[in-house]
Amino acid sequence: MKFFNQVGVSYFSNRHLKHFITDLKDMKKDGFNSILHTFSEEDLLYSSGNVKDMVRAGKDYGFTTWIDPWALGRVFGGEALSNFLLENPLAWQLLSDNKRYPAACLNNPLFRNYMKKWADAAVDMGVDAVFWDEPMLAIRHKGRKIAWGCRCPYCRESFEMKNLRAMPVIIMDSSVVKFREDTVKSFILEMSAYVKQISKNKVKNSVALITRSNDTERCATFESMAGIKQIDSLGVDPCWIKGSPDVYKTSYTAAVNIKEISYGAGKTPHFWLQGSGYKKGTEGRAKLSIKAAADAGVRSLWVWGYKGGEMMSSIASDRPGVVWGEIVRGLKAISNPKS
Ligand SMILES: [Zn+2]
Repeated sequence: MKFFNQVGVSYFSNRHLKHFITDLKDMKKDGFNSILHTFSEEDLLYSSGNVKDMVRAGKDYGFTTWIDPWALGRVFGGEALSNFLLENPLAWQLLSDNKRYPAACLNNPLFRNYMKKWADAAVDMGVDAVFWDEPMLAIRHKGRKIAWGCRCPYCRESFEMKNLRAMPVIIMDSSVVKFREDTVKSFILEMSAYVKQISKNKVKNSVALITRSNDTERCATFESMAGIKQIDSLGVDPCWIKGSPDVYKTSYTAAVNIKEISYGAGKTPHFWLQGSGYKKGTEGRAKLSIKAAADAGVRSLWVWGYKGGEMMSSIASDRPGVVWGEIVRGLKAISNPKS
């Protein structure tokens, strides 16, 4: 029996079905059984049909398929631009320094409606799950000072109703931290409930945040996401490429944490392995992270992204082929420990 029940990888930057099927066959050979498609604003505008064809092809080959609102409104993770922000300048977040910030406000009804149109298209493709990818409100550092979002009229009104006082102007006190957390939670709750409603409970919801120690920076906590009934799977992306010397420890700690929170709430935990951005000579770290997730007992492992990120130069590894080889061997070593 394989150790990981689910081994997935994110796929982007190609909308040509013929080439995708070639990659799909390779993924299957490499031991993957799940795939995540990014579905950006550009895709929604111009390539919905292509993505739908790819989702169908994945299912034909037996893959479980997730879909990702990649950088929509610039409030989710992802390397993609936002047409919504161009068309709706009043829906941008307003930071505590009174400057507009190019990321949609999660409390703005225009953005929530736009997200539902995206969800309509995503669910129509026949995906198995929607992956809410690192949703957050803005925070900017200026030396020792920070500017936080959001103080737009919708947020100020919502804050005042909950706290019976005006929203702080600059200081990010505990009431602001709580408000930001509640905002992300209410947004994900509404979106995940909508997905369940329009799919008649057939499509699952999955959400990931980055690290637990960054609760304030990242707005939401894993515990708050675990408290959403409509969320089925909770994930972590330990993000160790930039700055963590002990890859195994960082990965293991994150994996244990997400497992405990998920199990406590009746959710399935999953772990994101960094699959891109490797410098030459560091490729072997991938195996350490895979082993850490396995040792922690997480059974769903996802790689971001396919082939060491070679399809996107801004995130590519120095030697993407070497990275991919290390990942595939690392996964096979876990699945077949005696081989
Ligand atoms: Zn706002």
